[in-house]
Amino acid sequence: MKRAVRSRRKVYGQLLVHARRQPHREFCGILAGQDGLITQAFPANNVAADPVRNYEIAPKEIVRLMGKLRKRRLGFLGICHSHPNWLDTNEPSPKDIALAYYSEAIYFIVTPRPYATTPIRAFSIRDGRAIELEIQVLP
Ligand SMILES: [Zn+2]
Repeated sequence: MKRAVRSRRKVYGQLLVHARRQPHREFCGILAGQDGLITQAFPANNVAADPVRNYEIAPKEIVRLMGKLRKRRLGFLGICHSHPNWLDTNEPSPKDIALAYYSEAIYFIVTPRPYATTPIRAFSIRDGRAIELEIQVLP
């Protein structure tokens, strides 16, 4: 059985909107919530040298976002990014796996493709291995 991650429907919708707003480059952000339930997504600037193929959140921005989370009493639960619509899948790339520094985090990968069967997929990435998680979308 797949392990599951729970997300509010609102967050799921926001991630699709962000990804589709800039379908030719990767968007990124962090996921936050309480008790394992993702209740909010905070978009971040993609400062990667090549934002068409990669994503990178500046350390300064991570610090700023973590402060925001603390103020709202939210826990850091994961990182989200999109894969531009010319990529086939929203699966972790070798680079995504290599750069997954937060072993406790859940990695959401979004595709802006309008007819994707799984527009958002969730992965746990640790020790160089990605395991897909089921996303339970709650009201
Ligand atoms: Zn990626």
